[in-house]
Amino acid sequence: MKYKIALIPGDGIGPEIVAEARKVLDRVGTVYGHEFLYEELLMGGASIDATGEPLTAETLQKAKESDSVLLGAVGGAVGQSKWYELPPNLRPEAGLLKIRKGLGLFCNLRPAVLFPQLKHACPLKEEISKGKFDFTVVRELTGGVYFGERKTEIEKGIRKAVDTMPYDENEICRIAKWAFEIARKRRKQVCSVDKANVLDTSRLWREVVSEVAKEYPDVQITNMLVDNCAMQIVKDPSQFDVILTENMFGDILSDEASMVTGSIGMLPSASLGEGKLGLYEPSHGSAPDIAGQDKANPIATILSAAMMLRYSFDLEKEASAIEDAVSKVLDQGYRTMDIKSDNTILIGTKEMGDRIVAQL
Ligand code: NAD
Repeated sequence: MKYKIALIPGDGIGPEIVAEARKVLDRVGTVYGHEFLYEELLMGGASIDATGEPLTAETLQKAKESDSVLLGAVGGAVGQSKWYELPPNLRPEAGLLKIRKGLGLFCNLRPAVLFPQLKHACPLKEEISKGKFDFTVVRELTGGVYFGERKTEIEKGIRKAVDTMPYDENEICRIAKWAFEIARKRRKQVCSVDKANVLDTSRLWREVVSEVAKEYPDVQITNMLVDNCAMQIVKDPSQFDVILTENMFGDILSDEASMVTGSIGMLPSASLGEGKLGLYEPSHGSAPDIAGQDKANPIATILSAAMMLRYSFDLEKEASAIEDAVSKVLDQGYRTMDIKSDNTILIGTKEMGDRIVAQL
């Protein structure tokens, strides 16, 4: 099969890590008989320098015409880069919001995986982490309190602010379906997280999720209150497979989930919409402090490419092959600087990419 991939290297370490993911995809293409056709696009600071805008309409159109998008990262050094002084809508990060909106992406998927080989990086005690866990947070991305009506006013001399958290059943239904579909490709358990003891939106959320669950009898569904979930992630992370939740709860829980793995350079992510097209990117930023030094860990981006194969192209075998190759290189003791520990071998970005390719 032929697949058209829009590659957006971006800024900082972006071009280095995307180049390694491309090598890995090419190898998968050769071994499994697929053709990946790439179109390189500009976004973020690189696009500002070339066009004055973080994402042009033409670039967005090309991304829409692709089968999927693989992104490195965008942005310069916080407070120091030349892009930092620009108005917010012209800064590199504005390109991210624009592309997510333009591609209609409402489902954010952030896996939290503790590789047994990196168990020492986990800030939790080993009796809690059990040396490995693998769950994923499915977060609604375009609704809820971040997009609801808000106002700040002075009422009888007192300053007052109001945010509203609207959700309709269609918004809940479509994200719930993604969560169940994702669970089907994993261990078939969805834990839907809400605050149904207080919020009306959460009661509707629970009701709609239980209706969608009937279409997926093979997937086990449980419900959990968000405050309890925040505790359970640090108490017993391996109990989770897929955590499904609304925008703000997901924002907080997915950051908590990343932190308990202890290695930001290892965490991929995906944003999905109605169709098969998705935006795949590492969870970390553009790391300008180490850009151009062959120090960046490319694994988060390589695992993002694996997610692209699984969720956008339905190439499960190929996705698993990439994940296994990463695991084997870790087993052999090779580490980039960010995940280095005693008795392991320090290698750079390119060598990490090459070693993963060699395992495929
Ligand atoms: P960051 O994630 O870029 O870096 C935080 C720390 O982690 C740094 O010390 C960095 O060297 C290290 N790090 C990150 N990724 C690494 C990797 N793959 N390998 C090794 N070390 C790695 O966060 P920051 O410094 O707060 O932000 C830098 C820029 O990235 C900012 O402009 C920010 O807006 C942007 N950003 C972009 C995205 C995105 O494109 N989705 C996400 C977050 C931040």
